Amino acid sequence: MVHELTHFVGGKPVPGTSGNFGDVYDPNTGRVQARVPLASVEETRAAIADAAAAQVEWAAWNPQRRARVLLRFLDLAQRDLDLLAKLLSSEHGKTIADAKGDIQRGLEVVEFAAGAPHLLKGEFTDGAGGGIDVHSLRQPLGVVAGITPFNFPAMIPLWKIAPAIACGNSFILKPSERDPSVPLKIAELFLEAGLPPGVLNVVNGDKTAVDTILTDPRIEAVGFVGSSDIAHYVYSTATANGKRAQCFGGAKNHMIIMPDADLDGVVDALIGAGFGSAGQRCMAISVAVPVGQATADALAAKLTERVKELRIGHSFDAEAEFGPLSSAGLLEKVRGYVDSGVAEGATLLADGRDFTLAGHEDGYFLGACLFDHVTPEMSIYQEEIFGPVLVIVRAEDYEQALRLPSEHEYGNGVAIFTRDGDTARDFSRRVRAGMVGVNVPIPVPVAYHTFGGWKRSGFGDLNQHGPDSFKFYTRTKTVTSRWPSGVKEGASFVIPTMD
Ligand code: NAD
Repeated sequence: MVHELTHFVGGKPVPGTSGNFGDVYDPNTGRVQARVPLASVEETRAAIADAAAAQVEWAAWNPQRRARVLLRFLDLAQRDLDLLAKLLSSEHGKTIADAKGDIQRGLEVVEFAAGAPHLLKGEFTDGAGGGIDVHSLRQPLGVVAGITPFNFPAMIPLWKIAPAIACGNSFILKPSERDPSVPLKIAELFLEAGLPPGVLNVVNGDKTAVDTILTDPRIEAVGFVGSSDIAHYVYSTATANGKRAQCFGGAKNHMIIMPDADLDGVVDALIGAGFGSAGQRCMAISVAVPVGQATADALAAKLTERVKELRIGHSFDAEAEFGPLSSAGLLEKVRGYVDSGVAEGATLLADGRDFTLAGHEDGYFLGACLFDHVTPEMSIYQEEIFGPVLVIVRAEDYEQALRLPSEHEYGNGVAIFTRDGDTARDFSRRVRAGMVGVNVPIPVPVAYHTFGGWKRSGFGDLNQHGPDSFKFYTRTKTVTSRWPSGVKEGASFVIPTMD
């Protein structure tokens, strides 16, 4: 019997009633391990109604009391860390150690959001004019929603949930239908931590649930993370329906390798950033750009050696460096990209297409692939592959290397490896991407800074977590007050000025 998952609404698991289900696979075996209900319009609307009812009371809690729920959640998540990591790994296919990282980077944003009492403080001006004081309030929006991707089923939901509820909103999470169990468990843990029922709801579903969220007038804001075409669709539909939206999309992250970089350090960084989680990270490095032919030749030789030694295994195998891809569809797509790279004339230095894991022949495993002599016209350079495929694009000089990520349609993360501070500084200032690493391959900012890409990697103006998240999940109200001693001159028909 395949386990049947539920929604989580009003503080309890709610079975699906639409009659539609999606299959949740174990990517290690290719077998279906659970069925996830796909919500109908009515089920989604019912969850929104529940969230709207719960929000009023929740917003009336003082910020410190709300923050205490987040602090208790942190303890509970640590208590259940092993269980959560195993569940995550079994549905996604990333290794247990990497699954713990996925959870931990989410918890760090919960820690940040527990600072809500401080972060929600408004501004005050004493004596802005004769007898006039001005103060601003940051008030919650009401019901807000998050629509999240399969590749970080703990981290990205927590990036959205934590600041949203800390600000006094209630939340509808529509997680990826591929790995919904950890998001459901997160909702249970928040309830155990003392979150009132209805403040956090998980609605499982597909486009029907998403479209209902995007058009329902009770939803005030939508945070999305996923592929760029869907990010653009969600952004344009949500904003056309009068909602705030921040929508983060795909990526093609470059690493520039200057001739003065420590090449062994570069190879270590590229192997981890390119192949960790089988390349299924929006901040994965997928393009290596060595500067100068000598750097390129040396890098290609060292990388080829290392790529062929990578240990691929079951996601529960503690020795595995990466596990399977998350779905059969993605496996086929990534293999197709490797085929097209060969057809387009790139040099395939390591070919993982025939890799199988003994005893797990039906799992979605793909060996690591490395291409050299890739050019900007090739589809393997232009498009996001989202698999264990690293491409080398050789640049003649620094200016050409700088142009590559700057002119690419995506602009999420980028890195430069060099020993020269002047070059690193120039690069950081001029490159057109949202997050830059200097000798850091995956520059995901810490929780108290903000995360967001440029160009087709991000639609909207405020980033995720950090101070931006408190702006996104609140609206400002500015109060100008004058007390009786100042009201003396009678009616005025001229706009007040502060002279
Ligand atoms: P996806 O776009 O397929 O799905 C994301 C979400 O959108 C899911 O909840 C899904 O159910 C929903 N969805 C899918 N198709 C839809 C449609 N037609 N209409 C409405 N909703 C729809 O993305 P994915 O495959 O789950 O995740 C991988 C992608 O996410 C990659 O492109 C990756 O780069 C990106 N990503 C970006 C970031 C970032 O911060 N920029 C972070 C993680 C992942």
